[in-house]
Amino acid sequence: MKTTCDALILGLGAIGSAALYQLAKQGQKVLGVDQFSPPHIYGSSHGETRIIRQAIGEGEGYTPLSVRAYELWKEIEGYSGQRLFTQTGGLVIDNGSSKKYIAQTDFFTNTVTSAKKYHIPHHLLNANELRYQFPQFNVNDNAKGFYEYTAGFLYPEQCITSQMTLAKQHGAIIHKNEKIEYFRQTPYSTVYVKTNQGHYEVKNLILCAGSWISQLLNPSYSHLFTPTRQISFWFGIRDNLDYFSPQTCPIFIMKGIDQPFYGFPAIQGLEKGVKIARGNFGDSTGADTINRHVSPKEISNMFQGISRYLPGLDARCIKTATCLYTLTPDNHFIIDWYPEIPSVLLVSPCSGHGFKYSAAIGEVVAQLVMNGSSECDISRFGLSRFNP
Ligand SMILES: Cc1cc2nc3c(=O)[nH]c(=O)nc-3n(C[C@H](O)[C@H](O)[C@H](O)COP(=O)(O)OP(=O)(O)OC[C@H]3O[C@@H](n4cnc5c(N)ncnc54)[C@H](O)[C@@H]3O)c2cc1C
Repeated sequence: MKTTCDALILGLGAIGSAALYQLAKQGQKVLGVDQFSPPHIYGSSHGETRIIRQAIGEGEGYTPLSVRAYELWKEIEGYSGQRLFTQTGGLVIDNGSSKKYIAQTDFFTNTVTSAKKYHIPHHLLNANELRYQFPQFNVNDNAKGFYEYTAGFLYPEQCITSQMTLAKQHGAIIHKNEKIEYFRQTPYSTVYVKTNQGHYEVKNLILCAGSWISQLLNPSYSHLFTPTRQISFWFGIRDNLDYFSPQTCPIFIMKGIDQPFYGFPAIQGLEKGVKIARGNFGDSTGADTINRHVSPKEISNMFQGISRYLPGLDARCIKTATCLYTLTPDNHFIIDWYPEIPSVLLVSPCSGHGFKYSAAIGEVVAQLVMNGSSECDISRFGLSRFNP
C-alpha cells in the first residue's frame, strides 16, 4: 500500500474545512473525508449564525487567535466572493451577579480585561445608558454593559462551503458520505485509515471529528470529550418591532441573575424571528443518539427565562434547531498530538465557542503539520493539563 496523501482531514465541519483549505493552500496533498455531506445539520456547525468577537470572556488568551481569524475570514471572503461575516457590534450585559451564577461574572470581567489589553475598540455602559442605547433589552438597575464595535456574526454553512471550494481549487480531494471506522499506526510511522468504502495510508491524520471524536480514540480519552445537546430557538417579534434588525440590534450575550443566554438580530427579516440560545453544560448525549425533537415544554421554559429581558419578543416559536457542544473538562480546547500515535493530531475546539476561531485554527493545524509548531500560542490547549 502506498502513502496516498500528506494529511487526511477526518471531518469537514468548521474545523476540518478550515484545516483542509489551509493545508491545500500551502501545497500539501490533502484528502478530506466526512461521513455526511457538509455543511450538514448533524454536528456542531449549523444554524445560520455564529457569534464572532475579539474581547473574549472565556479568557483573554483567546484574543490573538480571534484577531488572526478576523484577518483570515476577510481573506476567504475575498477569494471566494462570498459574504461570511456581518458586523453588528456586540453587547455583553452583566445583569447583576448572584451566588448561583457567580462564575459568569468572570465572563464580563474577562471581556473587559481582554479588550483593554489588546486595544479592542469598545465602550462601557451603565444601566441607564444601556436602556437608552439598546431599548430592546430590559436590564436591572445594577446592570453593566460592554459594547464591542467590531463584533458580529459569521454564516457558518457558507464559511464551510467556501473553504471546501477554495481547498478543491488548491487541489484538495473531498470524499463526502464516507465514514472512517478506525485507524492505526503502520511500521513505517504512517497511519493506516480504514473507512466503510476503502482504506488509506497517510503521513498525518487530523481528527476534526467534533462530537464523534471519542468514538475513534482509546476509551481512556473518552472523559475528555463530552457531547451535550443544545437547542437554538427563533422567537417571533411583537408588532415586528425594528429593534431587532441587524442595523439596530447587536449580537448579545446576557449574563447575570438568571441562566445566561445569547442571541442575534433577525437576519432573515423580522418575520423570521430572533435566534436565542443558552449553553447546556449539563446533560451529556451521544453524537448519534441525540434527541432532535424539541418539546413544547422546552420552548415555553426558554421563553419564560428570556422574555422579561427581551420584552419585544413573543412566545411564538418560529423554529428550533438541535446541535452538539463537545465539552472538555475545563471548557477549553484540545489541540495536541495523540500520545498513542504521534502523527495523529487531535483538534477539538468546541466547548460551545470554537467557530469564530476556526479559520485561524485551520492555519494552526497547517503550521503544526508542516513545521511542527504554530505562530499562535496553543500551549494552553495541550493534553498534559489533564495529567497533573
Ligand atoms: C448551538 C451552538 C451554538 C454555538 N455558537 C457559537 C458561537 O456563537 N460562536 C462560536 O465561536 N462558536 C459557537 N459554537 C461552537 C462552534 O460551532 C463549534 O466550536 C464548531 O462548530 C465545532 O466544529 P467542529 O468542526 O469541531 O465539529 P463539527 O462541525 O461537528 O464537525 C465534525 C465533523 O466530523 C465528521 N465526522 C465525525 N466522525 C466521523 C467519521 N468517523 N468519519 C467521517 N466523518 C466524521 C462529522 O460528520 C462532522 O461533519 C456553537 C455551537 C453550537 C452547537
